[in-house]
Amino acid sequence: MALAFDEFGRPFVIIKEQDQKVRLRGLDAQKANIASGMAVSRILRTSLGPKGMDKMLQSPDGDVTITNDGATILEKMDVDNQIAKLLVELSRSQDYEIGDGTTGVVVLAGALLEQSQKLLERGIHPIRVAEGYETASRIAVEHLEKISQKFDFGVNNIEPLVRTCMTTLSSKIVNRCKRSLAEIAVKAVMAVADLERRDVNLDLIKVEGKVGGKLEDTELIHGILVDKEMSHPQMPKQIEDAKIAILTCPFEPPKPKTKHKVDIDTVEKFQTLRKQEQQYFDVMVQKCKVGCRLLYEDVGATLVICQWGFDDEANHLLMHRNLPAVRWVGGVELELIAIATGGRIVPRFQELTPEKLGKAGLVREKAFGTTKDRMLYVEHCANSRAVTIFIRGGNKMIIEETKRSIHDALCVARNLIRNNSIVYGGGSAEISCSVCVEAAADKHPGVEQYAIRAFADALDSVPMALAENSGLQPIETLSSVKSQQIKENNHYCGIDCNDAGTNDMREQNVFETLIGKQQQIFLATQVVKMILKIDDVISPSEY
Ligand code: ADP
Repeated sequence: MALAFDEFGRPFVIIKEQDQKVRLRGLDAQKANIASGMAVSRILRTSLGPKGMDKMLQSPDGDVTITNDGATILEKMDVDNQIAKLLVELSRSQDYEIGDGTTGVVVLAGALLEQSQKLLERGIHPIRVAEGYETASRIAVEHLEKISQKFDFGVNNIEPLVRTCMTTLSSKIVNRCKRSLAEIAVKAVMAVADLERRDVNLDLIKVEGKVGGKLEDTELIHGILVDKEMSHPQMPKQIEDAKIAILTCPFEPPKPKTKHKVDIDTVEKFQTLRKQEQQYFDVMVQKCKVGCRLLYEDVGATLVICQWGFDDEANHLLMHRNLPAVRWVGGVELELIAIATGGRIVPRFQELTPEKLGKAGLVREKAFGTTKDRMLYVEHCANSRAVTIFIRGGNKMIIEETKRSIHDALCVARNLIRNNSIVYGGGSAEISCSVCVEAAADKHPGVEQYAIRAFADALDSVPMALAENSGLQPIETLSSVKSQQIKENNHYCGIDCNDAGTNDMREQNVFETLIGKQQQIFLATQVVKMILKIDDVISPSEY
């Protein structure tokens, strides 16, 4: 700190910023970074695999989340450390790109960090470690390609896809209903998939949830579900061959603004005003039913879906004129309804024409339980590509976790449609890669061979974590599976987590997508390399 004076002689204090900062340099910086990365990875390690534990996280405002999904755990953990944040990002990118394998990627990154700590202590320069890891990751990714298999499925043969989604769901809380949920996920993806272009637009799949009922009641609706009800209880609950007007303009007479002045001093004047208001509504309803330009030729919207509200007067009139309506429908839903029914969103009454109406085979309102909860099903739409997965469950936490698990299953199915190569799970692919990378290390002349060998050891930590989480002896199990792989030249031996009596993951039907696994290795290596290359950490002081 120093005292100085400005040009008017007023004193001020200069605080040297450097004195306020904490600085870590060289090996200390790397070690501190590695330690923080490993701390995060250790948290997720116990959540890996079908027998992985769940985490309960409470947000500052008391919301509780129970989950097993790596990306969600890290997202909700609210980490402060910058290196730990890198791992959060890592899990997020895996989620973003692939949608599954978010725990595995962090466990692998943690293992790579642990191995690099040992190498640094032995005096190997971080850059050599990073280069070794890079070489090893390329070898592993190429090897994955070699041991991958093509996966056959078709529109009429979705069973293989269902089984893959079941693998994903088997490690989640919802594994009780994995068969039915996997079927729902696959049918939903197939409904929106473009098999020729190998593309799936997941935006067309809407996942909705409502507390109540059982998880088994979860259903796939070939259409849209809107958490709204008819605006008047006496409106029909079921409309067949509905022609839907989708409006984003308010169904209300224009309200007088504050700068307008309405003088009403007699009963007559008030009645005229009311009459005018009613007329206004009448015209509006008429426009919807008949269409403004084609005056009396009936184009007949049989249902109005409106983004805005309408007041009681309008509601009453709509009911009387036999035009069912739904109000306060959100923008996203409105858009989905428009896509599904082939209708157009109409921002002004004047623009309403018969071609702009959406068409749906059946629109029905369904009541749930004994409560007054009602929802609107828009089914058999003209353009049947949009579907909804409607999740039921005992409480909000189960529904949220089911949504996350279904998302993973949807992503797996989508990835297989994009690229139908698979590798087997249960750690079998990692063990096979580890053997291959280990062999490659011996052929490498430079110091990198230590790093390559360390990479092989890090790959082993995934099956070890799976074994540990399933209550098996990690080292013993790993060594016996590894020797079995080498002896039988069988790349599909993995950890028998569910005690099914066989190590062969083909028999257990435990798959993962090839691109998912490759992405895990790529991303984990990238982040670890980035952490290793940081040799100076300057951060603000805590005091
Ligand atoms: P992630 O978020 O990374 O997908 P999971 O908790 O879903 O994490 O665990 C995935 C791991 O569990 C994968 O390595 C997968 O191969 C393995 N796995 C899943 N089901 C089984 C099973 N039935 N037997 C053995 N391993 C399994």
